[in-house]
Amino acid sequence: KPSNLKGYAPICLGLEDFYTRRLYLRIQDCFGRPIASAPDAWFDVVERYSNDCNKTLHRTQKTSKCLNLGSYNYLGFAAADEYCTPRVIESLKKYSASTCSVRVDGGNTKLHTELEELVARFVGKPAAILFGMGYVTNSAIIPALVGKGGLIISDSLNHNSIVNGARGSGATVRVFQHNNPAHLEDVLREQIAGGQPRTHRPWKKIIVIVEGIYSMEGELCKLPEAYTYLDEAHSIGAVGKTGRGVCELLGVDPDGIDIMMGTFTKSFGSCGGYIAASKEIIHHLKHTCPAHIYATSMSPPAVQQVISAIKVILGEDGTNRGAKKLAQIRENSNFFRSELQKMGFEVLGDNDSPVMPIMLYNPAKIPAFSRECLRQNVAVVTVAFPATPLLLARARICISASHSREDLIKGLEVISKVGDLVGIKYFPVEQEKT
Ligand code: PMP
Repeated sequence: KPSNLKGYAPICLGLEDFYTRRLYLRIQDCFGRPIASAPDAWFDVVERYSNDCNKTLHRTQKTSKCLNLGSYNYLGFAAADEYCTPRVIESLKKYSASTCSVRVDGGNTKLHTELEELVARFVGKPAAILFGMGYVTNSAIIPALVGKGGLIISDSLNHNSIVNGARGSGATVRVFQHNNPAHLEDVLREQIAGGQPRTHRPWKKIIVIVEGIYSMEGELCKLPEAYTYLDEAHSIGAVGKTGRGVCELLGVDPDGIDIMMGTFTKSFGSCGGYIAASKEIIHHLKHTCPAHIYATSMSPPAVQQVISAIKVILGEDGTNRGAKKLAQIRENSNFFRSELQKMGFEVLGDNDSPVMPIMLYNPAKIPAFSRECLRQNVAVVTVAFPATPLLLARARICISASHSREDLIKGLEVISKVGDLVGIKYFPVEQEKT
């Protein structure tokens, strides 16, 4: 009832990052099923029991084994790996878990420098800089690149870390309709010349920010229309023939992107983030960005994990495992997506994207979908407001190269049954007439 939503007006007004969890509980309450009464509906990792990858979990309540269809472990590197793990253990012995120092004051190891050079080479940029956390890479870098007097033009569905960085920068922020280059152009024209012939440059700097694969939509960005700050958290390592992300997949020269951002928490099975850009931009960030100057540098074993994972992807481990993983994630993703579509689900996103949102719409369906999947030993992530608009709740499947065909078929069978139960096959397949 609209009257039920009265107390929730601030949510609709965009105070979404405030007490997220509590607001979420109250929204669920509005729809008559408070989360608190559905404790068995959410999955949590108690223990990994498979050593090949983190595709399986213990379930919180009943501790049964689950197939994990929710992890960002796109290439299966978040597990014991014959090339990465021995090197990570070696680096732990040599450097310990933390440098206990900022980069510029004793927190730099050979590994940090090696990874910066490797990332730059991998994404096709002259230089790179590392950060301890992907989230911070966006939220701290954007203010270091643009401030008061500057203009940020941001896709309406950009990740919260970008929104936070843009808001904190002091620059003027304008949002364009998601993945809509025509609207981006309108916004740019309006902001540059106010519709009049251009007589002066009104902004000190203009930055356009997009994501490679939208984390809640699974869609690829419309990159060929030209953008400048690209968040590749979900795409680097995961798409493109040699894992180099959306530029490679969409045939765009990385030279056309000024700032390439990515995280190590997904395809590389580690933690931290990076910015790759021109030598001048990286020099500027190294000398001005507080998150570089004042934060303890990345944990050396985490750095070593990324170095090793990239070397496997590049085939520099002396095998073709990397190429096989890349072919496998593409095959797994495209198989799973097309099977879901055939079953009548509304699946967002593009081919080759391992991120697959299945639309639930009504938030009241979230606990039901999640609980029923868990009961049948499949763990999925469900997402809703404020990560998505209020009435666009969804389950988000993330496919890994290390899911076997058997895993995928089991996942599909369970999702199909639960889809019938919860009533989310919005495109029922027409029965052949006999
Ligand atoms: N950017 C995007 C698009 C993301 O989806 C995420 C997190 N999933 C981040 C940045 C933050 O990365 P991290 O989790 O590595 O801190």
